[in-house]
Amino acid sequence: MVKIKKQDYLWKGKRYRLSRSKSENHEKCSRCFYLQDKIGLPAQNMPPFNLNKRTDVLLKEEFDEYRKKGEPHPIFSKNNLSNIIPFDSDLIEEWREAQTAGVQYKHEFPDGSHVTVCGGIDDVLFNTDTKELVMIDYKSTWFENVCQDSEWILEHYWNYDVKKGDYKRWYKYQLNFYAHLFRKNGYSVSNTAYIYLVHADNNQDTWDNKINFEATLIPANLDPKIYDINQIINNVNETMESNCIPPTNPDCRTCFRESEIIDKAYSHGLTDGVQQGMLL
Ligand code: SF4
Repeated sequence: MVKIKKQDYLWKGKRYRLSRSKSENHEKCSRCFYLQDKIGLPAQNMPPFNLNKRTDVLLKEEFDEYRKKGEPHPIFSKNNLSNIIPFDSDLIEEWREAQTAGVQYKHEFPDGSHVTVCGGIDDVLFNTDTKELVMIDYKSTWFENVCQDSEWILEHYWNYDVKKGDYKRWYKYQLNFYAHLFRKNGYSVSNTAYIYLVHADNNQDTWDNKINFEATLIPANLDPKIYDINQIINNVNETMESNCIPPTNPDCRTCFRESEIIDKAYSHGLTDGVQQGMLL
């Protein structure tokens, strides 16, 4: 049986939080977002990405060591960026807590209503020259048959054509979103951000109970004009205040498969079962 979410956790309910990933879901398909956050249907199951989570934990611990020392992480020194060090704040652990805290603020809409907007960060850095915060996110991955050349990685991880809808565009979105959250909390934020990418080594030829990684630092310019998060949140409000369920995303294979199955069922005269199984 489908379990519907409680009212408090739905759009503008007492406990509702618009996280970075939820706002991303709205950008990807406003229909799915509406069904989950207004009507209360459960989200689709996703694999848990536990190995990526483990690399994140180890990287956080490593950056924390340099935070304690007030020194740049070696990858920043290696890239002649010794002026960028982990930001020392008592709030780091709270900012990392995506489920219950994160970096957050109250976003007010023109009609006086509001939602809490939030995001859990991997880390945040500080530019000792400009006194600005610097956004960073850790990513761990593996590509087959590619040379780990930083130009190639830059091309595939940042300078990607956003119009192609590739998931990597969301890395840009993510860092712009975090910059927005910190700015709303009164911090001055640099327009240069970084992805700290760890890539499984293609030259490793034996398992030996370990995977070696190569680390690359990818600098990137944030673009608050393309990623106007205020506007994006206002667009979410417009979707949610409407009584019309938005259309499906035509590129989504799940809905595409469903409509194919429904068509096939109809062609076999199985209309009753299909109608009972259809939610909306
Ligand atoms: S197209 Fe359908 S299944 Fe896909 S994300 Fe949207 S509502 Fe969900």
